[in-house]
Amino acid sequence: MSSPSPSALSSMLLPPSTLGVLGGGQLGRMLALEARRAGYRVVIFTDEASGCPAGQIADLEINARYDDTEALERFLAQVDVVTAEFENIPDACLQAVEAVKSLRPSRKAIFTTQHREREKLFLREQGIACAEFRIVEDLAGLEQAVSELGRPCVIKTAAFGYDGKGQAKVNADTHLAEAWKAFEGHHAVVEQWVPFVCEVSVVGARDIHGHTAVHGCVENQHEHHILDMSIAPARVAPAITAQALALWKAVAEGLDYVGTMAVEMFVTADGKVLVNEIAPRPHNSGHHTIDACLTSQFGQQLRAVCGLPLGDATQHTPAVMVNLLGNVWPAETVHPDWSPVLSHTRAKLHLYGKQLAKLRRKMGHFTVLGDTIEEAVQQAQAIKAELMRTARV
Ligand code: AMP
Repeated sequence: MSSPSPSALSSMLLPPSTLGVLGGGQLGRMLALEARRAGYRVVIFTDEASGCPAGQIADLEINARYDDTEALERFLAQVDVVTAEFENIPDACLQAVEAVKSLRPSRKAIFTTQHREREKLFLREQGIACAEFRIVEDLAGLEQAVSELGRPCVIKTAAFGYDGKGQAKVNADTHLAEAWKAFEGHHAVVEQWVPFVCEVSVVGARDIHGHTAVHGCVENQHEHHILDMSIAPARVAPAITAQALALWKAVAEGLDYVGTMAVEMFVTADGKVLVNEIAPRPHNSGHHTIDACLTSQFGQQLRAVCGLPLGDATQHTPAVMVNLLGNVWPAETVHPDWSPVLSHTRAKLHLYGKQLAKLRRKMGHFTVLGDTIEEAVQQAQAIKAELMRTARV
């Protein structure tokens, strides 16, 4: 492996530089754990209350609204570089950050991917495969879109939707005027229904010089639109994996991306792969990389954001990640008995430090490593079944 050139070396931020993170959730927490282990300082800026998942790990937590310019100035004065752990950050805040510090990924990449309409138009402009869609702003537009795309199809809010929120499926008997009421006054994206055989994602990173490293193709199983289990590597044909990796690269290059990025995709029965969503950050479907890859998605984010060369993303062991939603807790403040996970020699428990286990809230995850992917799936399912014995739902 070659050594970085002198000019590349000068752009590297080395410990004890300070990493600024916009957002205080579990993705920021796992990044902060990685950064602090390597001797970086971490400052979190979040509109969450003090003691949030990332704040618990950071050197400093600033709790303020994203439009609080004085607090933002205080944050920016203390950090060497800034990244984001979620995308729903007001554009004025992103612009203010980018005016004085390097923001990685860039404001443009976050701005494009935080909004479904802009994201879809980007994909279309780049010629990247995705479900056919129309942008609509009123009932007449919806009627036109549904007549062109056919039923079933799905209406999604353009802004701030995640985990299936802000979506409505249009079936054969759906009354469009009724369905539109939930979207009135907003832009929406109407998407052709994709009868997919499975959902996959690719998580990878791109550094400041345009080099990329991906963790491979992961198979994702959802429950109630929330990720339940990620199986890595995905049990798909090599041609599907190759398409998925190529789509990830096209997105990363199209956005001139710097940092860790995930692309979620649909696999159709006739062997096509279509982009569903882009996440300009580490992703839930990349959590197995902490335990199963030589460099995790958070390690890569830290490296890319600090201008370092990317690490080796190779996955060394087959792995399954299972999300732990609040439902698994017998009561909001009562933890389940963790011994099924902790007594397993190849399972790893990750809890996010959230106090109240609300239903459907992402509270943690566990990863199970196996000699084969089948073994990992079977063991993960057995552990989950044990935990579910005292679950609320
Ligand atoms: P999203 O919030 O766009 O990731 O959608 C959440 C989930 O809804 C996806 O993971 C799919 O299971 C389902 N879904 C979204 N869009 C479509 C579509 N066009 N066709 C079929 N299923 C979809």
